[in-house]
Amino acid sequence: MARQILKYPHPFLCEKAYPVEEITPDLKDLVAKMAEIMYDSEGVGLAAPQIGQCSRVVVIDLSGPEKREALQVFINPEIVRADGVEVKDEGCLSVPFGYRADVKRAQTVTVRAQDLEGNEFEVEAEGLFARCLQHEIDHLNGKLFIDHISRLKRSLFDGRIKKSRRLKKDAD
Ligand SMILES: [Zn+2]
Repeated sequence: MARQILKYPHPFLCEKAYPVEEITPDLKDLVAKMAEIMYDSEGVGLAAPQIGQCSRVVVIDLSGPEKREALQVFINPEIVRADGVEVKDEGCLSVPFGYRADVKRAQTVTVRAQDLEGNEFEVEAEGLFARCLQHEIDHLNGKLFIDHISRLKRSLFDGRIKKSRRLKKDAD
């Protein structure tokens, strides 16, 4: 079953994900799988498109893979309010080389979503939680954090990707 995390420049990562219409057993399975893959990969957040599922589902656990005690599930999450500006470095399980770069994000956000029972809820988040929510919701809109970095940094990064693909091809 080992579902892999898709890596940039996989085209799937640039697709806009579809809203979840109904909470089904399949959706619950997907969420369980996403949590497992997130923990295995030592991430604190994962969006469904990262494992090739084009639906608006996000899991976050800021307690990390060691504790695994604060799993939060966001179905159809939407940012309804954003305030302030904060620049911090970010990485992503879908971005190769463990690449990290500074990304400008809102400092606090209010997110509206549904839980696994289909109940609507709102959370106010700040700091890492706010950053993580914005990062994962970006995935649902086909955006990666490298879409927020400067053009120069991005072209250097893309150069690195091209080079590694070339090396791989030569090795095959
Ligand atoms: Zn990511």
